[in-house]
Amino acid sequence: MTGAAMYDTNNIFAKILRGEIPAQRLYEDDYALAFPDIRPAAPAHVLVIPKGTYISIADFGARASAEEITGFFRAVSHVAGLMGVTESGFRLISNAGPDSHQEVPHFHVHLLGGRALGPLLASV
Ligand code: AMP
Repeated sequence: MTGAAMYDTNNIFAKILRGEIPAQRLYEDDYALAFPDIRPAAPAHVLVIPKGTYISIADFGARASAEEITGFFRAVSHVAGLMGVTESGFRLISNAGPDSHQEVPHFHVHLLGGRALGPLLASV
C-alpha cells in the first residue's frame, strides 16, 4: 500500500511523533525519531521512524525525497552507534504489508542487537 491519501494520521507512531503518546526519544533530528520498542525482542531493540507520513518502506521508497531517504538512513546508522552495536553487529527488520504482520502503518525499522540473534526467521 502506498500513497499519502492512504496514510492513517491516527496510527500510534504518528501520535508519538506529535507527542500525544509518550516515548523515550533516544535520538531525533529533522528526518527521524528513535525510541525503544515497548515489547523488546533483544537486549537492544529500538524503532527508527521517519518524520514524514509514509506507510511502509515501499511507500517511503516510492514517495520520499532523496534528502529524506539519506537523512533517515544516516539516522539509523547513528542510532546503531548510540546503542553500541556497530561493532558487535545488529539486524534491521522492516515489516511491510499483511504477509509481514506489520502492526503499525507508519514506516519503521526495528534495530535489534546486544546478543547473537540466530537465524533470520524462526521457521519457514
Ligand atoms: P511491526 O509489526 O513491524 O509493525 O511492529 C510494531 C512494533 O511497535 C511492535 O514491535 C510493538 O511492540 C511496537 N510498539 C507498539 N506500540 C508502541 C509504543 N507505544 N511504543 C513503542 N513501541 C511500540
